[in-house]
Amino acid sequence: MLHRLRGLGMTARVFEAGADVGGTWYWNRYPGARCDIESMQYSFSFSEELQQEWEWTERFAPQPEILRYANHVADRFGLRSDIAFNTRVTGAAFDKARWTVRTDRGDAVSARFCIMATGCLSTGRLPEIEGIDRFAGRAYHTGAWPHEGVDFTGQRVGVIGTGSSAIQSIPVIAQQAAQLFVFQRTPNFSVPARNAPLTPDHGSPNTPSAAAGRPRCGRASSTISAKPRRLRSRPRRASASTPRAGRRAGSTSLAPTPILLTSKEANDTAAEFVRGRIRSIVRDPVTAALLAPTSHSIGTKRICVDTGYFETFNRENVTLVDLQAAPIEAITPDGLRTRDAEYALDALVFATGFDAMTGSLLRMDITGSGGRTLADKWAAGLRTYLGLMTAGFPNLFTITGPGSPSVLSNMIVSIEQHVDWIADCLAYLRSHGIAEIEASSAAEDAWVEHVNAAAELTLYPQANSWYLGANIPGKPRVFMPYIGGVGVYRETCEDVAARGYAGFDLTLRPRLRERSAAE
Ligand code: NAP
Repeated sequence: MLHRLRGLGMTARVFEAGADVGGTWYWNRYPGARCDIESMQYSFSFSEELQQEWEWTERFAPQPEILRYANHVADRFGLRSDIAFNTRVTGAAFDKARWTVRTDRGDAVSARFCIMATGCLSTGRLPEIEGIDRFAGRAYHTGAWPHEGVDFTGQRVGVIGTGSSAIQSIPVIAQQAAQLFVFQRTPNFSVPARNAPLTPDHGSPNTPSAAAGRPRCGRASSTISAKPRRLRSRPRRASASTPRAGRRAGSTSLAPTPILLTSKEANDTAAEFVRGRIRSIVRDPVTAALLAPTSHSIGTKRICVDTGYFETFNRENVTLVDLQAAPIEAITPDGLRTRDAEYALDALVFATGFDAMTGSLLRMDITGSGGRTLADKWAAGLRTYLGLMTAGFPNLFTITGPGSPSVLSNMIVSIEQHVDWIADCLAYLRSHGIAEIEASSAAEDAWVEHVNAAAELTLYPQANSWYLGANIPGKPRVFMPYIGGVGVYRETCEDVAARGYAGFDLTLRPRLRERSAAE
């Protein structure tokens, strides 16, 4: 976004809470962290030179390599000079056609436009467990991992949670720890990554197949894969071929086909196939049964991509603790107590997720026109137009905001799409003498209704997922990402822009307003 704004000749200041660039890949340094989208697709396409010079070394890039990529991009385009690091934005208020952005360093910066690039999974969440502050050992959250790394050698380690972060870190921690206890409340579906090294000839995002794939990614109907598909309103018959999806490796399996999302019968077939794979890997039948998800349909929570996760439970030093049978009662100075047992621990890892999509926005004190706060506006559930703006908050944009495909898509591709749309919009406002742009309430209402209707066509709302805010006590239950498909979504955004930003209220600059009134 900074690069595009500079290209438009605009001045911009970026505020970043971290000490360096990278976002998710700066904070999530837990052992085993790697992308669950193929590296070749997880690359920027805005610069031909950048694509020429970068080479990925693995099919699914590990966190340190993606962080190096982010640093390379920042250096390559000289971005750091306009970024204030170690600076957390505490609030932003709109008054007299300008935003004032305040930071924890005492800045109060005035700007015409404010763009939130705060990410979808950037506010970590610790569970409310009695005694959580009294643990005498070392405690870590996967989303705020120490930069120097953690050596678990010889330690008794507990991991709370079995989502994507846990599923990636558990196999690595198990190799170090003397004893590993995995505290599982809900099992998750996971498929093997089948990660592999990429040869120099095949590791460049510029290879014809990778370069060709990314635009397709951005136009696909569903989510991550490039193959165009459309959501159907009527489910088709379950297909004997469905389990084949489960045999494919990694990210292609991450994008559930529409039939899996709309037909319970087809979904059950695929889910049972994956459960069968778990039973075939895990030797102890009781542990295998506990690891096999039955409480949600496959794909309605993010499907995890793992390297040796289920195999890890065959190790002598790993114990699965079923919290459904015996919930956690307290964390004690010496470890953790469930209803049935005490576990002595030296270290505790919270792989307990994030206040997704709205958490980082609502953590700031954002006040729109008329003094209304975003927290107040979204108290009963978030409302946006296209996930790009929200009524009552003029000139405030959100990159991959709630109500856009965001977390259901390849984030790099969706970030680029939003950056381009916002940059084009700002250029349009400038060339047309427009001072303010704001989502109209009518367009927002229609979009919110459409986002909800699309979700209701699928099995998604039936799962207690973070997509719905179900992991945060008291958070309104609203399906936050747009499930209608990235291709349909992109066309909608393009169409809105082509029609002079239909659904947005545009206010001319005062002098132009007077001139146009006189005419
Ligand atoms: P998550 O999917 O929200 O998982 C959190 C886990 O913590 C769940 O198993 C949850 O159990 C458990 N938990 C929460 N509170 C608990 C409590 N009080 N007691 C016991 N267990 C508790 O979080 P995540 O694993 O960090 O992943 C979040 C998202 O980040 C993913 O879905 C994915 O989109 C993204 N991610 C991507 C990658 C990648 O690209 N490779 C890696 C990591 C994460 P319940 O299900 O029972 O609530």
